[in-house]
Amino acid sequence: MPFQSLGLAPSILSAIQDAGYTEPTPIQAAAIPAVLSGSDVIGIAQTGTGKTAAFTLPILTQLTQKPLHTGQRSHTRVLVIAPTRELVAQIEENVLAYAKHLPLKIARVFGGVGEKPQKDALRAGSEVVIACPGRLLDLMGQRCADFSKLEYLVLDEADRMLDMGFLPDIRRIVQQLPKKRQTLLFSATLSKEIESLTHEFQHSPKIVQIGKRSNPAETVTQHIYELPKHLKLSLLSHLLKDDALQMVLVFSRTKHGADKIARKLEQTGVRCATLHANRSQNQRLKALDDFKAGRVRVLVATDIAARGIDVDGISHVINFDFPHVVEDYVHRIGRTGRAQAIGDAISFVSSDEMDDLRRLERFIGRGITRKRAENFDYKASPQSFEVERPERRHQQQRSRHPQRHANEQHGRPENASQGQKTPRSNTEQAKASPAKRKSFWGRLSGR
Ligand code: AMP
Repeated sequence: MPFQSLGLAPSILSAIQDAGYTEPTPIQAAAIPAVLSGSDVIGIAQTGTGKTAAFTLPILTQLTQKPLHTGQRSHTRVLVIAPTRELVAQIEENVLAYAKHLPLKIARVFGGVGEKPQKDALRAGSEVVIACPGRLLDLMGQRCADFSKLEYLVLDEADRMLDMGFLPDIRRIVQQLPKKRQTLLFSATLSKEIESLTHEFQHSPKIVQIGKRSNPAETVTQHIYELPKHLKLSLLSHLLKDDALQMVLVFSRTKHGADKIARKLEQTGVRCATLHANRSQNQRLKALDDFKAGRVRVLVATDIAARGIDVDGISHVINFDFPHVVEDYVHRIGRTGRAQAIGDAISFVSSDEMDDLRRLERFIGRGITRKRAENFDYKASPQSFEVERPERRHQQQRSRHPQRHANEQHGRPENASQGQKTPRSNTEQAKASPAKRKSFWGRLSGR
């Protein structure tokens, strides 16, 4: 199907030609007519599928159908919200290319850089604003933005924004936008959380989906082992005697914990690799390669790894430390059961983690089956297998301070006080330089 048959404006078609695109990608072929019809749209597509053009091209087409300048001051007609500074810059680049024949002003808004140019761009009434939620909310609070005539809202990478704890910010932003608008939401997956987001922000959206619906919890069998903390390593080692645990991803809440688990398992003859922020990019890539190739059976990772790992064939995810944040649980277990494969998620829960488990069970609306390991000595006394636990304080900070600023700014805290409060996972991310992190995640997601 040629671009010409999709109903795009001539100036946009000309820009597409200049960009060298010969035909629309599947998400574009599906989303462009849906957006042009005026409906709210949910687009399920990953980065790299051409999703930016899928929402930008029809929006720009619609912008050209009303006079772009009425002679008075221009105003913001399109707001695109995206989770990271890199993504905002990337979207801006795309919009600039596709709007090259249109007299549009475009503003980009994100943390970690001076506010002044962004405030000026907002006050100038840029027709298109592309923003990270945190800084945008700050500037809206300073009355720099006028969204009273907004026509289009795009929430890009909505699943990542939820992961990063942006939902409260997004709610506050959307509350200040006109109710009558067209809202487009793009996400790599259509989870329950995304569905509830669409109920909140959209009206009768059309779903445009490339690929499968992904809800890992449906294909993953989940079990809980309740046990004293000091027996967790022995139980892990015991379970690994079963060959059915072929390709095992173990989650530790801390980097030191991950190292210690791997060391102890290696001592028992289980080949392990670790993946966490204290490891160099090369070490991480090697760990993943070894895991994918079956050279190591167990990969021990911290949560930072859960966000990007896209490895097929993981047979078991083991939560050595039970996640403190419900969303982390869902992400961790989503590393298995990919592509409709069956997977097992096992969680070790000690008495101090029972509250977290109960919170998760309330969240998913059911209890998770308890299991007792056969031939395992639950009465064993504390011994060398014990792994130190993270301080409770860090865990609580993590849930109170989502990843907002760190992610908007390549992990750099916006000011000293936020820096002090930056939770552990942010700190982990912050330690990798932006360039390193980008190429690391880029390589992961590019497989
Ligand atoms: P995105 O998924 O929006 O990040 O786009 C991924 C890449 O595909 C970007 O570099 C776009 O410039 C490029 N792209 C988007 N649409 C097309 C198309 N129809 N044909 C060829 N390349 C495209």
